[in-house]
Amino acid sequence: MNKRGLLIVVSGPSGVGKGTVLKKLLADNSDIVPSISATTRAPRNGDIEGETYFFKSVDEFKRMIDNNEFMEWAVYNDNYYGTPVKYVNEKLDEGKDVLLEIDVQGALNLQEKYPSAVYIFIAPENIDVLRERLIGRNTETPEEIEDRINAAKWELTKKDKYDYVVVNKIVEDASDEILSILNKRRD
Ligand code: 5GP
Repeated sequence: MNKRGLLIVVSGPSGVGKGTVLKKLLADNSDIVPSISATTRAPRNGDIEGETYFFKSVDEFKRMIDNNEFMEWAVYNDNYYGTPVKYVNEKLDEGKDVLLEIDVQGALNLQEKYPSAVYIFIAPENIDVLRERLIGRNTETPEEIEDRINAAKWELTKKDKYDYVVVNKIVEDASDEILSILNKRRD
């Protein structure tokens, strides 16, 4: 039988560059598979149904909560987001490491249920860098950007609850740092 895979939980403020860091990590490591979350937020440019998210109505999402289909779920900026438990468990049983990119509330909710998972927080150098990135990517309105900055400030107060904090200055370095954390855990 395969050794059960490692559950990897990564959080970090919107705009910190998580997506880019994790894309590199996944590209370099075929044994790590990303979980695909369900969400009620509207698709953005570049979103692909079933690849970036499963897009659901609020009613559908609530039905999934009632059916215990999520290993965790949370409301972030008025939208629901949740991790499908079936897919994640199947992959872990196959011996794959599964990467969850989820918000802080979701990660903290998992910590009691999944103490053997590795919890990593990706932090920005500072809030100004974060604001510039959010403005630069041009996917949110100014109001949404301020909401995300406020969310980031709260998220940063929780970073010490994670096993590791990785500051994203250079994508390659952040991705390598995560990989060395994972290698340590796999030993
Ligand atoms: P975005 O709308 O930018 O794609 O994601 C907003 C936030 O929701 C990010 O912090 C992202 O990590 C988080 N998120 C995505 N999927 C999930 C999930 O399944 N559960 C939780 N708790 N948060 C999620």
